[in-house]
Amino acid sequence: MDFDLPDDIQRLVAVARDFREQRLAPLEAEFLREGNVPWPLRPRLQAEARELGLWAIDVPRAHGGLGLGQLAVCAVHEELNKHPMMFEVGGAPEPVLYHCAPHQWERYFAAVVAGERHSAYAFTEPGTGSDLGAIETTAVRDGEEWVIDGRKLFIGLAERVEFLILFASTDPSRGGRGVSVFLIDSGTPGYEVVRTIPTMGDAWDPCELRFDGCRVPDTQLLGELNEGFATADDQLSHGRLKIASYQLGIAQRCIDLAVAWAQERTTWGQPIASRQAIQFMLADSAVELDAARLLVYRTAWRADRGDDVRTDAFKSKLFATEMAQRVTDRCLQVFGGRGYARDSPIQSFFRQVRLWRIGHGTAEIHRWMIARDLLGPAANGRPPQ
Ligand SMILES: Cc1cc2nc3c(=O)[nH]c(=O)nc-3n(C[C@H](O)[C@H](O)[C@H](O)COP(=O)(O)OP(=O)(O)OC[C@H]3O[C@@H](n4cnc5c(N)ncnc54)[C@H](O)[C@@H]3O)c2cc1C
Repeated sequence: MDFDLPDDIQRLVAVARDFREQRLAPLEAEFLREGNVPWPLRPRLQAEARELGLWAIDVPRAHGGLGLGQLAVCAVHEELNKHPMMFEVGGAPEPVLYHCAPHQWERYFAAVVAGERHSAYAFTEPGTGSDLGAIETTAVRDGEEWVIDGRKLFIGLAERVEFLILFASTDPSRGGRGVSVFLIDSGTPGYEVVRTIPTMGDAWDPCELRFDGCRVPDTQLLGELNEGFATADDQLSHGRLKIASYQLGIAQRCIDLAVAWAQERTTWGQPIASRQAIQFMLADSAVELDAARLLVYRTAWRADRGDDVRTDAFKSKLFATEMAQRVTDRCLQVFGGRGYARDSPIQSFFRQVRLWRIGHGTAEIHRWMIARDLLGPAANGRPPQ
């Protein structure tokens, strides 16, 4: 077994580290003070990262990417997420866009890889989040068109992007088996971003969307009719893995900061590093981070081998997000009052990691999916087959 990252990935991580230290780190004080950096800076930073080769990491070379896999995506995002602004490598189409038909490819998939267009992902609604089969937004066929009505809630970056990947019910009688995916360009009549929803996180707030008689041609259906979840399902694991890798960078940065502070800060004439209470918090954090990193990287490695990693991706995101919550909490504690102050990156990380136990599937749903893999039909109250 070889636990070293391959050379090409190590080189990419070194580029990401330089970029973080030289371009992101100087923005940290402003980010913490304002809760974000001015929006136009993000696309500019992404363009700079692209110049350095940080772009479209897992997109096949034939489609304009680096042709690396999930291990590279995780390693780079671990490095970048040592800064709290949630900076993502650009040119990465949502995996569901690999299902674009030839007539959709240039405008949606290729345009994202080129950095010309960006997408948001719209599942969640006022009436449902975890229970995706209960979606109430409908798309009804009318001749060669679909008419979409409904509302979506908590859709990240919807007011900034050029198009939406929308999940709508095309056959309400079939529940989750009657959901389809549509590509909706921003500005399409009948589609409106109603408001942004202030949250406890920094970086950005999600949006509420309304569809009121929004008409799109048949050509905007992505993948097969009524197969929306099947289309998305096998692809969601990559998103979960990427989120898990954020937690590694966050936890590593917080531990590094807390270790330095424990060595510097004295009470009763001794560095707090000499107190067992502080040592145990740091030791537990280091152990848990190591365990999470092994799980996340093994899953990414298996994904690149072509294995089915759905359950491992659930385990990775579940364990890494809960690890990061404990680690950020302990590290904040090591800093005492300074950890709670607005200019401490740890308080920003602490609030950010809370999101990831909810977004992209809650911790409870992750546990359910892992248990279902263990227990089979009995997990849903049915006799074993
Ligand atoms: C900042 C932010 C950004 C987001 N971005 C997006 C986005 O871009 N696109 C998008 O579509 N959505 C987005 N979401 C929504 C997010 O994915 C949902 O909030 C999440 O899936 C949970 O859904 P819910 O909030 O409706 O909770 P619910 O489904 O109502 O769940 C409430 C609670 O009940 C638990 N629960 C529910 N069912 C079960 C069960 N069967 N067994 C045990 N426990 C259960 C849940 O785990 C949770 O603790 C975002 C949310 C936030 C906060």
